[in-house]
Amino acid sequence: MLTLRNPATEEVICELPHASVADADAAIEKAKAASPAWKAMAPADRSKVMRRFADTVAAHVDELALLETQNMGMPIGSSRWCANAVSDVLHYFAGAVEKHTGSSIPVAGGIDVTFHEPLGVVGLITPWNFPMLMASWKIGPALAAGNTAVLKPAEITPLTSIRIGELALEAGIPEGVLNVVVGPGRTVGQRLVDHPDVRKVAFTGSTEVGKQLMRGCADQVKRLTLELGGKSANIVFADADLEKAAANAPGAVFDNSGQDCCSRSRVLVQRSVFDRFMELFIDAAKAFTVGDPMDPSTAMGPLVTAGHLAAVRRYSEGLETVFTGEAPDGPGYWHPVMIATPTYDDPVCHEEIFGPVAVVIPFDDEADAIRICNDSIYGLSGSVWTQDGAKAIRVVRAMEAGTLSVNSNSSVRYSTPFGGFKQSGLGREHSMHVLDHYSELKNVFFAT
Ligand code: NAP
Ligand code: MG
Repeated sequence: MLTLRNPATEEVICELPHASVADADAAIEKAKAASPAWKAMAPADRSKVMRRFADTVAAHVDELALLETQNMGMPIGSSRWCANAVSDVLHYFAGAVEKHTGSSIPVAGGIDVTFHEPLGVVGLITPWNFPMLMASWKIGPALAAGNTAVLKPAEITPLTSIRIGELALEAGIPEGVLNVVVGPGRTVGQRLVDHPDVRKVAFTGSTEVGKQLMRGCADQVKRLTLELGGKSANIVFADADLEKAAANAPGAVFDNSGQDCCSRSRVLVQRSVFDRFMELFIDAAKAFTVGDPMDPSTAMGPLVTAGHLAAVRRYSEGLETVFTGEAPDGPGYWHPVMIATPTYDDPVCHEEIFGPVAVVIPFDDEADAIRICNDSIYGLSGSVWTQDGAKAIRVVRAMEAGTLSVNSNSSVRYSTPFGGFKQSGLGREHSMHVLDHYSELKNVFFAT
C-alpha cells in the first residue's frame, strides 16, 4: 500500500494501492479504444467539452486546493492559485483546438496541404512539486490536439490528479480519453516508455530520470518532450531598482519551499552594490514566514517528504549562511529559508538543491554576469534587473536559458512558450507551440 502523509503534520491522510504494470496496460488499452472517436470529434465539439472540463475544475477550486495543500504542503493561497490556473490552462487549450490549423502551399503542378494529425495515445508523467498544475500543462495540449492520454502523477502527490480525472468524466470528457494511473515511476512510468501503443511521452521531472527516458524512447523512436531541472540565475546590475529587485528575490527562490524548477536560486549581484543588496535581500527574507500551509498568511510551508527534507539538508547542514530564517519544530518536514555566499566552487552554487537555499554570487561587469549565468549544465529560467533597456536586451539574448524575465521574476504564462536550454529540457510547453509536440505534421501534394 502507498501511504500518503500530510507534510505539515506527518499524519496519514490516505492509503491507496500501487498500480501495477497490468493496470498501466489496461489504461493504455482504454486510451487506445477511445482514440478514434476523440480524434474524429469535430474540433468545435472537442473545444466545447474541454471548456466544460475547465468550468468543472473552476467549480472545484476549494476542494482541489485543499487536497494539494494536504498532500504536498503548498500554502493554501498558492494551491488556490494553482487550481484556478488549471482551469485557465484548460480554457486556453479548449480555445486552441480550432486554431491549430494546417496550411496550403502553392507548388509547381499543384498544391501542398498540411495537416496536424493526432499522435494517438500519449503518456504524461508529472512530478510532485506542482502536481495539478503540471498535469494540466500536459492534459490541455494532449487532448486539444486530439490525443487520448494516460497520466502518471508522482506517486507521493497523486490526489489532485485523481480528482481532475474524475472531474473530466463529470464534465463529459468521454471515458478512456483521460486515464490516471498511480504507480511507481520505475514500473508504471517505464511502461509508458516501453509500450508500443504509447506514441509519445511528455515528462516533467529530474534531469537524471529524463536522461533514462530518452534512452528508453530510442528503441521505438518514441516522441519525447522533457521539462527538467534548473539552477537559474537572478542577475542584479548596479543600475537596477535595488529595492524592487531585493523585495522580489526571496519569493523567486523560496516560493513553494524552493521546490520549483524555475527557482532563481543563484542570485548574481554586481560587486559595487553587493553589500547594499544583501542588506535589502536579508530584510525581505525576514518577512518570509514559514509555517502552517493552511494559514493564509504563511509564505512557505514544509518540504514534501522526510526523504526530500534529508536531501535538502545534505546541502544546507554545515553551510555557512549570512541569513537563516525561523522554521517550526516537528512534526512536519520543516526547513528554514537560507541565504549563503559560498565560494564559487562549492556544489551549492551549481547543483539543483530544490529547497529554500539561495546562493549569492558577486560579478564584476556584464560579460562576467553572462559567463557565470551560462556556467551551468542547466538553462531553464532566469531574470535580469537593470534600468538600462539596451543592456537588458543584450543580456537576455546572451543567456542560455529558455524562460526569462526583465525587472520581474515571473515568466510562466500559458499563452507563452515555456521550457529549457541544455539539460533543462527538450521541447516547449504552453502557447500554440506546444501543440506541435502533440501532433505529427503531415504534408499532402495534390496534383492539379
Ligand atoms: P523525478 O524523480 O524525476 O520524477 C518525476 C516523475 O517521473 C514521477 O512521476 C516519477 O514517478 C517518474 N519516474 C521516476 N522514475 C521513472 C522511470 N524510470 N520511468 C518513468 N517515470 C519515472 O522528479 P521529482 O523528484 O518528482 O521532481 C523534481 C524534479 O522535477 C526537479 O529536478 C525539478 O527541477 C523538476 N521539475 C521540472 C519542471 C520543468 O517544467 N522544467 C517542473 C517541475 C519540476 P514516482 O516518483 O512516482 O516514482
Ligand atoms: Mg524524485
